[in-house]
Amino acid sequence: MSYGENRGAPADVAMMTTIYLDNNATTRIAPEVAEAMWPWLTEHYGNPSSLHRFGEDALEAVSRARASVARLLGARHASEIVFTAGGTESNHLALHQARGAAPERKRVITTAVEHPAVLEPSARLADSGFVVERARVEHDGSLALDAFLASLDTRCALVSVMWANNETGAIHDVAAIGRRCRELGILFHVDAVQAAGKLAFVLTDLAVDYVSVSAHKLHGPQGVGALWVRRGSPFDAWTRGGSQEADRRAGTENVAGIVGFGRAAELAREWLAGGGPERLAALRDELERRLRERIDGFEVAAAKIARTSGTSQFVFGDVSGEALVLALSDAGVCASSGSACSSGTQAPSHVLTAMGWDAAHASSSLRLSLSRFTTEDEVARATELVASAVRDLRSLLGSPRS
Ligand code: PLP
Repeated sequence: MSYGENRGAPADVAMMTTIYLDNNATTRIAPEVAEAMWPWLTEHYGNPSSLHRFGEDALEAVSRARASVARLLGARHASEIVFTAGGTESNHLALHQARGAAPERKRVITTAVEHPAVLEPSARLADSGFVVERARVEHDGSLALDAFLASLDTRCALVSVMWANNETGAIHDVAAIGRRCRELGILFHVDAVQAAGKLAFVLTDLAVDYVSVSAHKLHGPQGVGALWVRRGSPFDAWTRGGSQEADRRAGTENVAGIVGFGRAAELAREWLAGGGPERLAALRDELERRLRERIDGFEVAAAKIARTSGTSQFVFGDVSGEALVLALSDAGVCASSGSACSSGTQAPSHVLTAMGWDAAHASSSLRLSLSRFTTEDEVARATELVASAVRDLRSLLGSPRS
């Protein structure tokens, strides 16, 4: 859906027909989500810890949302959901659990393609005496799984692997990793921020201890997420000073945000059950086909392995990803070069670098990420605009490609 199609938007806003293809950075709040949140921002402003009626209502709303998020994730117990301020906090909380492992377990293993919200807190564990290792990936974006599994042993405290990569959409085999972790008594965390609401899964079927999710990647509000903590897995709280979230995360709950997350989770479940991912993958394939028809000299990262259905990362090698994103912004397309968190700096994508691309290619990518609101017409228009922006930049550079 184009930005300007919002009903009731002012005329100057309605004139804009921006095509939003940056859904791995954040998604549009679904109208049903905004509607569900509104009363909790206006009339029902109670604190869930208060004993009066307003407090009780808020507590009940949080409980209902907890059950909805648990259902989306296939969790056995709603009490396994700890609401947080988003994926970043959930990841920090999960990595913190390494500190509670047996003293002889000093290895923490993650991968070279994790989001900075895992890379940075895991690197900090080195200050507490942990040896932090980053497993390599293959050129196709998959984990070098055999080597990864063989590297695990009883000296490992915690393993953290993302389910789906935010730049390429590459999906990792967390089931196999979980099985090995379970055999060796290693705590296992999965960053599912880019997987929840995009892939159908049942957490109780997997040998996983902690799973991070974030509402704003699935048409919920920004600034709210959750850490799923398997019942029986060790857990040490990070914030203290309140008994919220069953003593696992002190601080007054973001009631309206949590209610929105719950509604977004219900909608995501319906979308998954109703063939949403298949329709989105067909649209994504159409986007890639159209772009190939118009320009040459690019590859799609991780195209040969399983990817989340709405993600295409185009690797060019001859045009700056940053310049391309800015040119597209002027042309009315919101896109990203590599990870949203690193755009604004000229640093090559650490994900493409880990996949073996040289610095020129790792600085020359464009990520287009679709959502259930993306239309065929937007895909058609966006491919024209991307092709023309690439051609313009190439002609400025005197590139022989077209
Ligand atoms: N993990 C992954 C894989 C992400 O893509 C992101 C956000 O882009 C995060 C974690 C951080 O989530 P949040 O923005 O909710 O803090």
